[in-house]
Amino acid sequence: MARIVILGAGIGGVPMALEMRQMARKEDEVCVISESPTFHFVPSNPWVAVKWRKPEDIKVELAPMFKKKGITFVNQKVTRVHPDRNQIDLADGSTVDYDYLVIATGPKLAFEEVPGFGPHGHTQSVCHVDHAVEAAEFWDEFVKDPGPVIVGSVQGASCFGPAYEYAFIADADLRKREIRDKVPITFVTSEPYIGHLGLGGVGDTKGLLEGELRQHHIKAITNARVDRIEDGVMHVTEVDEKGQEKQKHELPFKHAMMIPAFKGVEAVAGIEGLVNPRGFVLIDEYQRNPTFKNVYSVGVCVAIPPVEATPVPTGSPKTGYMIESMVTATAHNIREQLDGKEPSHKATWNALCLADLGDTGVAFIARPQMPPRNVTWASKGRWVHLAKIAFEKYFIRKIRKGISEPFYERLGLKLMGIVRLKKS
Ligand SMILES: Cc1cc2nc3c(=O)[nH]c(=O)nc-3n(C[C@H](O)[C@H](O)[C@H](O)COP(=O)(O)OP(=O)(O)OC[C@H]3O[C@@H](n4cnc5c(N)ncnc54)[C@H](O)[C@@H]3O)c2cc1C
Repeated sequence: MARIVILGAGIGGVPMALEMRQMARKEDEVCVISESPTFHFVPSNPWVAVKWRKPEDIKVELAPMFKKKGITFVNQKVTRVHPDRNQIDLADGSTVDYDYLVIATGPKLAFEEVPGFGPHGHTQSVCHVDHAVEAAEFWDEFVKDPGPVIVGSVQGASCFGPAYEYAFIADADLRKREIRDKVPITFVTSEPYIGHLGLGGVGDTKGLLEGELRQHHIKAITNARVDRIEDGVMHVTEVDEKGQEKQKHELPFKHAMMIPAFKGVEAVAGIEGLVNPRGFVLIDEYQRNPTFKNVYSVGVCVAIPPVEATPVPTGSPKTGYMIESMVTATAHNIREQLDGKEPSHKATWNALCLADLGDTGVAFIARPQMPPRNVTWASKGRWVHLAKIAFEKYFIRKIRKGISEPFYERLGLKLMGIVRLKKS
């Protein structure tokens, strides 16, 4: 019998537990440890932030669902991982031993890297559902007395899609309230150009998103480094393609939502051989840590290199499609190790995104994520907005039932069908 412990219960951790339960032997124990009693569908957070969704709509209670599936659930924060002795410390002072460990703890949000940044500073966030709930309360007051808005992503960020989504969702919400004329919106991003997305662009994401920003009267500053944020003023340095200062901006705002850079969580930070200097888990092509051969990792907490160097540092995003393929590869590889074999399954690492733009949307596929690619495709339309809503509802319904499917793979195949149809 082996105990397989999964840290984290997000888009990586929950499907990981469900797939691992199916792949493991009957006598093995699958155990999930997560600080949150619920799963949250993170991609819906921008909707929560303008009250288009209630937080309950995107949450799933984990304990009853895991119980039904024969998975042990421990609702505790992990304070430290000890890969040298196969043990984990929990916040209540207890410890858990493991035979195999899968780290799926998502990101630590590095707000502290910019003075005045984040929910404890002067800006709102959509990165966690609790932040989105706070942002929604702020939004309620803001719309009574509106003013300038800044949205975007700071230096070192790797997750750009939600910044675009939030800018256009806020724009749509303000238009519905007929107060958009009172709200100048500026999009401030570390990307070298609009639509780069940490991916070097995908298909015509540059043209599509530039066009959308223009049509929605949203001004943009690219190659931007946020120096500090004060109450009502964001201090930004715009750099040229060599990274040299081009212009300083002092941008007034009444409401700002910026995506931070990510790091790995404190429970693994600084562990020699396990993580890189930013705390992301080092993995080989089989999702396995090269030093600790019974430790795997999936999701935003894995270390992957940026797609290319940019004048202001940016990272490459880890999206649902990639995470799903990491999960499947890991479940198969742990089973192989249980059977005394070497792991042989590799994740596909394709990027697929449905970015909601309020009442329309942009879809893109990058196969593989790292250029040069076999497929790069992007398209715009109201169908993307509707497809994102349908996908959200389907995903959450299945997780409530404890069913993990290749959600993104199926969506990707459908979109690939559309691409082929359009090409023929
Ligand atoms: C706002 C936003 C929107 C996004 N939208 C999309 C999208 O539309 N499409 C897409 O493909 N990707 C999207 N992404 C990217 C990615 O899919 C998500 O970030 C996704 O949630 C990552 O899943 P994860 O499991 O790696 O991390 P998370 O979902 O963050 O899960 C991490 C889990 O670990 C737990 N945890 C963390 N630390 C500890 C600890 N010390 N002890 C115990 N538990 C711990 C957390 O409570 C949580 O349960 C989006 C990201 C963001 C931030």
